[in-house]
Amino acid sequence: MDISGTIIASVNEFEEINVVKHIFFECTCCTKCCQLNNIPVTEPDIRLMQDNGIEIDQMIETMSPVLIANKNLERNGLIKAYILRQKPFVRECAFLEENRLCKVHDFKPLTCQLYPFSVKRNEDKLYVIVHPKNICEHIEIDVDESKSNTSEIAENLLSILFGEKQTD
Ligand code: SF4
Ligand code: SF4
Repeated sequence: MDISGTIIASVNEFEEINVVKHIFFECTCCTKCCQLNNIPVTEPDIRLMQDNGIEIDQMIETMSPVLIANKNLERNGLIKAYILRQKPFVRECAFLEENRLCKVHDFKPLTCQLYPFSVKRNEDKLYVIVHPKNICEHIEIDVDESKSNTSEIAENLLSILFGEKQTD
């Protein structure tokens, strides 16, 4: 069953999470998603990697930027993005090391941080969805509520996108 694009939670303007689907996901670090083509890298991603010592020609393919749906949720529309560099003749990310760990884990592109999920805005709500190009085989769908970690997934995505919630 292809679950790409499935809504798993909605978030209102007060960042209250409403679970739409009970799922269970835990990353097994199988690295299958590091073998995807055309992983987008935005200009903020590039600046962050440069700040951490990665040269531009190490991180992006030498092709023109492409337009992708905006991940900066304050604005709608399309933004310019580049393509994460792959190893020569091997269909996997240039940062995937021989020990199968990510060389840039602590400052990897936003898409990598959110995968296998994504967030879409529709009017005054955010929707947490399974990534539209999902290839991850480790999402269990429609699990029992006691096993579900949908809320934690949504909270984690919100903290990646907006930072930790401020408390008084
Ligand atoms: S495919 Fe899924 S389980 Fe494998 S590394 Fe990517 S997110 Fe983790
Ligand atoms: S940057 Fe890291 S997490 Fe992203 S595709 Fe490359 S190896 Fe995988």
